[in-house]
Parts: sequence; C-alpha cells; structure tokens
Amino acid sequence: MSRLRKAGDAAARATALRAQIEAASHRYYVLDDPAITDAQFDALLRELVDLESEHPELRTSDSPTQRVGAPPSDRFAPYRHARPMLSLANASSEQELRAFDERARKLAGGAVDYVCELKIDGLAIALDYNDGALARGGTRGDGRVGEDVTPNLRTIRTIPLRLLPGAKVPAFVEVRGEVYLKKSDFERLNASREEHGQPIFANPRNAASGGVRQLDPALTARRRLSFFAYQIAVLEGGAGAKPTQWEALQYLRTLGFPVNPNIRRSETIDDVIAFCRDWEVRRDDLDYEIDGVVVKIDDVAIQEKLGVVARDPRWAIAFKFKAREARTELTDIVVTVGRTGTLNPNAVLEPVQIGGVTVKSATLHNAAYIENNDIRIGDTVIVTRAGDVIPRVVGPVIAERSGTERVFRMPDRCPVCGSDVDHPPGEAMSRCTNASCPAQMYERLRHFASRGAMDIEGLGDVLAEQLTQRGLVRELPDVYDLDASTLLGLERMGEKSVAKLLEAIAASKKRGLARLLGGLGIRFVGEQTAQILAGDFGSLDAITEAGDDELQRSDGIGPEVAGSVHLFFKQSENRRTVERLRAAGVETTAPKRKPAAAGELAGKTFVLTGTLPSLTRERAGDAIVAAGGKVTGSVSKNTDYVVAGDEPGSKYAKAQQLGIAILDESGLRKLLNLSS
Ligand code: NAD
Repeated sequence: MSRLRKAGDAAARATALRAQIEAASHRYYVLDDPAITDAQFDALLRELVDLESEHPELRTSDSPTQRVGAPPSDRFAPYRHARPMLSLANASSEQELRAFDERARKLAGGAVDYVCELKIDGLAIALDYNDGALARGGTRGDGRVGEDVTPNLRTIRTIPLRLLPGAKVPAFVEVRGEVYLKKSDFERLNASREEHGQPIFANPRNAASGGVRQLDPALTARRRLSFFAYQIAVLEGGAGAKPTQWEALQYLRTLGFPVNPNIRRSETIDDVIAFCRDWEVRRDDLDYEIDGVVVKIDDVAIQEKLGVVARDPRWAIAFKFKAREARTELTDIVVTVGRTGTLNPNAVLEPVQIGGVTVKSATLHNAAYIENNDIRIGDTVIVTRAGDVIPRVVGPVIAERSGTERVFRMPDRCPVCGSDVDHPPGEAMSRCTNASCPAQMYERLRHFASRGAMDIEGLGDVLAEQLTQRGLVRELPDVYDLDASTLLGLERMGEKSVAKLLEAIAASKKRGLARLLGGLGIRFVGEQTAQILAGDFGSLDAITEAGDDELQRSDGIGPEVAGSVHLFFKQSENRRTVERLRAAGVETTAPKRKPAAAGELAGKTFVLTGTLPSLTRERAGDAIVAAGGKVTGSVSKNTDYVVAGDEPGSKYAKAQQLGIAILDESGLRKLLNLSS
C-alpha cells in the first residue's frame, strides 16, 4: 500500500472518529445520556490521539483531542472561567505513572512531592466567593465558558453559602470541586424513576450532571447532590497564596468546604502507586463512585513552571482504574416476580470476570429498557458492574450479530401464578395482578423472616418456597398460625426442626417495632428508617395515624419515604395485616426515643461498620436505639461513636481522620451494660 493511500485512509478514519467522538460527547456532556460506555469512548479517543501523533498534519485546532468537554448549552447564561478549566491526562498502568514521574522530575529539575486524591466520578464545577459569600457558580463547559448554574448549586447542602467566619476569609476565591451523587441516593433515585415510568440514569455521574443542569432549582434540590472541593483556582487578598496543593486542601477545609478525607502526600512514585492500587481494591467501601486517583505535583511553583499542553495540565495525571465492564453472550432472559409484583427481566450470561467477580446474571430493568437498547437473546452484550450496584447490561455489540438473535417479549401472564399481567400505559414496569401470587408472597416472606427484620431462624429459601407454593402462607400473619402437624408434612421437616422453628417464630414476636416495620416491606423503609420511625413514634398505631407532615418531622425522613409510609397504611389489606399480627401477639410498640438528657445514650449518634461477630449489627442497632441513641449510615463531625467490627470499611478511616471515638464490640457492650 502506498504512503499516500495510507495517509488517505488515516484522514478518513480521523474524520469518522471525530464524528463519533463529537456525537458521544454531546450525548454525555450536554444531554447527560451517554450512548456508549466510557471505556468505548476512551478507546475511540485514544485511537484518534495515536492517529494524530502518527499524522500530525491531521491535527486540527477543533479536534476533540485538543478540546475539553463540550460547548455550554444555551439554556443557561454563560459562565466565563478566569483560568481555563482543563481535563486530565490519563495513566492506565504503573509504567505510565512512572513515565509521568520521570518527565515531571526532569522538567522540574529535581525531586517532586505529590498529592494523591481520589478521582470522584461526578461533575466539575467552579464557585466564586466575594468577601466570603457564594456569588456565582458554573460548570466546566468547554473549559473556557461553562454554564451559570448558581441557583442550582445553592441547593446543594455541602456547598457553603458563606465561608466560615474565623478562618482567614479572602476578598475573592474561586474554588473548584466535584458535585457527585452518593451510590445510595442514586439507587433510590433510579428506583423512584423506574416506578414513575421515567428513564433511569446510567450511572451516578450522569444523574449528578443532569441534576446540576436543571432549569428548576427545586428539581436539583430533590436529587440530594453532594460536593467535594479540591482546588483553589484564584485567591485574592486576606489569606495569602497557598504554596502547595496540600496546604490549599487544608485551607479549603478551614473555610468550611468538604474535602475528601482520603488524600495522601507522597514523596515517591512508589508511594503514589501503592495509594492507587490500594484504592482500586477498596473503592467499593465508599458510598460514592471513584474512577481513579488524581496525582498532582504538590508545589504550586513547579505546577506553574510545567504549564499545560493542549487540554491537560502537565503537573497532574489521572490514574484510571480498570473499567468494570466486559463483553459476553446473553444466553437467555428470565423473568422473576418481585415483592411488589413487578416482573423483572434478568439477563442470563455466559459467565464473565468483571473486576475480580464472576458475573453470571445482570439486570435488564424492564421491557422498555430492552426495547430501547435493542437487546436480543443471543447477542454479544456489554455488561458493567459499578461499585456495589448490581451488574447491568449496557447494550448489544451490533457488529457481532449473526442474525440468529431473538427479540424478547414480556410474557402477558405471570410466569409464576399464570395470572394476567398489567402494563399500565406510561409505566415502565409490568406487574402480576394477583396480590396473593406465591412469588410475591415468597419474596415478602423471605424479607419478613430475614435477619435484619423478624429474624426467624430456619425460615430460609427452601421453606419459604414450600409455604408459599402450597398456599400455607398467603399473608404474612399466616406465619403465626403455622402448627406442628402442618409443618411436619413439609419436606425436610422432622420433629426437632419443627420444634425449633416454632420456637423461633414465637421469639420473633418480641423483636419490637423497628424490626416489624422494616419487615413489612414498605417501599423505602429499610432498617435505619424503621429505627428512626420506631424511636420517634413509639407505636405502630402512632405511625399508622401520622400524616405526611408529621412523618417528615423525623430526622432523615423526606417526602418520598413519608409518602410511601402513609400510602402503605392507608390500604385496607395492610391495615388488616397489622391487626392480625397484633392479634397474634406480635409486639407493635417500642420505647420512644428518650428526650435529650434522659436515657443513657440520649442524643448520641452511632455509626456501625464491619461485622460484629457475636452481637450482630442488627442487635447492636436495636440496643443503641433502646438506650436512647441514634444509628446513622455515614460518619460526620456529628457522629459520637463509630463501632468497628471485623473488616471495617472506609467509615473507620473517616472516624480516625475526624478524631471520633471508635469502639469495638466489647467496648460497645460495656457502654450498653450488656454482658459479654
Ligand atoms: P477526566 O474525567 O478524565 O478528568 C478530569 C475530571 O476529573 C475533572 O474535570 C473533574 O471533574 C474530575 N475530578 C474528580 N476528582 C478530581 C480531583 N480530586 N482533582 C481534579 N479533578 C478531579 O476528564 P473529562 O474530560 O472530564 O472526561 C473524560 C471522561 O468522560 C472519560 O472517563 C470519558 O470516558 C468520559 N466520557 C464518556 C463519554 C461517553 O459517551 N460514555 C463521552 C465523553 C466523555
């Protein structure tokens, strides 16, 4: 092939790549609805970078390799950046980090120190403060001009509207950082969108970005976005320039900004690499997505000396974790029936390794998702696994189709009980119309009897299946009508196991209100919410009678949870269930949380992390609440104690960082006066 022909091919390929990259960037940055995965996007961009370095004549100033993000949308007023807001060069291997280090030392003319920060997977924003008050905030846009989204940013609780008095507040400061959505808030948001027939978000990043770029700030507020600050872009007056990135981070903290606690100052690239490797393994411990580690040269003077090339600063690099996605074959789609009767399509996959875990099945959400993404049985598909979020099928690899793939149809009869399936127009989910469908009852019973709820030992999958399939448990209270002769007729149930089970069933009546509430399977009411409601209201009657507003007065109960609780207890069959449980002798009250100053642990906030081998987290939580304390899910400066069991997560590190008292199991027992 002649040299000329090759160049012609390269030009054609570059044009095709640019078109694909532009289209994907628009979907990603402007519409917050990516059409391809990040790994696919990165592969396209890398190919274009390689092509342009082989054929420099193809490099144009408007090439995506030279530009950051995408132009701002005209739905917002422009926000002009005082200094360009850039992207980051990527390193995907240890060698690339070492090459970065060598280059940096050479350009700096000596040793350099680094600051390692987690790369939060969200949306970069800039915030301007005049005399300590938030004046304006904007998105990155194309790096020169972003979108002015000030009213939306004001709704994010962790963004200070005023800087802390007492700190040396500068006359002007531009702070940059990442707006993100916690994984737990993301799951809740998607569950609610699915329920309301709205399209779900591909990942927390897109949901955060879409949240910041709403036209109505009330909608931003509802997303419950969070923020971490990581850079001072401009600083004028008062405090004096910060000579290092490390000092800048400490100063941001004193001004009242949330700064990620998992940062490290490293003197060697080996130490940097150890930090990157460590977090690649521990990323699932965090309640937010990270996709890498950002390594920055600490000394600002050296940073300035090194400057910028194209769209990336030369003084920082993003070490990207391995993509948690893979290709595999979708061999079948099976439909299961959930607790609320929803028909859930699941992908059966040719087993594949993703991030050290074998994935054999993945969620396909609902029929519309399968149709919109044109996913067919027999397709080669891309599967992602993000954090502890369930693996999901992103879409088919169309180029791999052989023509033998089959289009999936949602059954019009329940695959378990054969009843009609209802698919109301405009809703995403199809539902089994039979309220006493054994599949629904099976899921509800499993949940009711689980350890975190009524803790009925011996009532596991196998027994729950028999009880529901044979119609012995059609409603939850039927559990308390089971007798020895009925149970003896079931598979694998001898005299001894029956006696033990009946004992466990009787014992479950005394678990108390919080466990009962959690066990009823009310949407959005998990263990912690149930504990809060039980502690605040004291009885099931009080909760049943409470209005939306009254429920929302409880700490951490938002409109969505309150609405769901209210709706649950309005329904007559649920009221009947409660009455029957009460008649069976199930405890429906709890000691009301004692007001501050009363109760030994009144007003004290606890966070539990890791496994508590003998006490269990459930029982520890119950005991703390009974003593007047409160259990929350995340560590903050308002936390009094962190109880750390075996293999504690990042909450432990955070407690250390904030200097919060850490107890082990025996310490907690002592505090609660429990025998060990
Ligand atoms: P980047 O994600 O590689 O890195 C820069 C960004 O990192 C910053 O803008 C900031 O938002 C973030 N960041 C997080 N923590 C940080 C910290 N502590 N310090 C500094 N920055 C921090 O670059 P990019 O240009 O924002 O975007 C590229 C990414 O977007 C790639 O992962 C790419 O795959 C993805 N993308 C995907 C699609 C798609 O269609 N799937 C399209 C376009 C871009």
